[in-house]
Amino acid sequence: MNTKIMKIDGRSLELADKIIKSGGVVGMPTETVYGLGANAFDTGAVEKIFRIKGRPNDNPLIVHIHKDYDISTLVSDVPDYAAALQKAFLPGPLTMVYKSRGVVSKSVSCGLDTLAIRIPSHEGAQKFLKYVNLPIAAPSANISKHVSPTSAEHVFNDLNGKIELILDGGKCTGGIESTVLDCTGEIPVVLRSGLITREMIARTVGECGEYVYKDGARALSPGMKYKHYSPNCRTVMFANSEAGKAIELYSKERANGVRAYILCDDATAVKTAVEDIINLGKTETEIAENLYSALREGEEKAELIIAIAPEKQDGVMVGVMNRLSKACS
Ligand code: AMP
Ligand code: MG
Repeated sequence: MNTKIMKIDGRSLELADKIIKSGGVVGMPTETVYGLGANAFDTGAVEKIFRIKGRPNDNPLIVHIHKDYDISTLVSDVPDYAAALQKAFLPGPLTMVYKSRGVVSKSVSCGLDTLAIRIPSHEGAQKFLKYVNLPIAAPSANISKHVSPTSAEHVFNDLNGKIELILDGGKCTGGIESTVLDCTGEIPVVLRSGLITREMIARTVGECGEYVYKDGARALSPGMKYKHYSPNCRTVMFANSEAGKAIELYSKERANGVRAYILCDDATAVKTAVEDIINLGKTETEIAENLYSALREGEEKAELIIAIAPEKQDGVMVGVMNRLSKACS
């Protein structure tokens, strides 16, 4: 199969629609990362996603809908705080978990009685969702465990020959996956951190919890227990306060002929002043936006990525650190 990359227009949308309605999968842009989408009502199509990615079959998928799609046909028991959050943050990089009505394929939620719903703000994603007029189940469009894709080219590099079409909506500006928020309890609980931070949610509805997965426990959000975001080269991470140790390792590896690169934010790059740096950028939104392309650039040119964590650790950096530490574990 030849994988086509097409800009989003009438012709590509027509093809995408044909693929989706005949039980196939399509690479699609969102404002966070690229997704691998299929008709959420079609079990055969949803199972293709798991097969193509090599995704563990207990890691549920997020369902993407158009902003005018009637969410009450898919889920029930939407609490008042969730309605307030929808109003404040949607369309946008926030996935909300509700009690499922059980109308989409059981394979989407892997047997859970809940369903994760996302309304992406990306214009191309909205056009696609409107055109197909279906809920689209979509995880990130990478081979399982590999770094998430933030461009059509990244998707192509992972899935060339495995899917028919990638809708090209340009580079993702968000850069890390959506915040996943459990909305089935008394208060909202962050299951996966992202660009809509716990602080932003708490400011809007008064309270917001955070779920911390402990090894071996039954995972509230099954995705948490898996290895993720790994570049295809050796990686190691140091805290910002240990930057000196990172430079020592870099010098030692370089002296031994190893192509080692330091991966860090701009402030740390200035401080360390080594030659071979992959720079994540200055602001927290820039760092989030560049994280996955930097890890993919790293695996292309480095034998060893030595990451130094940014000094700032709150807000959006909670999500960045979650990805970076998993990538380097
Ligand atoms: P991905 O699409 O690969 O970025 O992963 C989706 C994330 O959403 C994973 O961490 C899943 O565990 C989580 N998720 C999806 N559906 C549910 C659900 N019904 N309940 C809890 N977490 C979910
Ligand atoms: Mg993923």
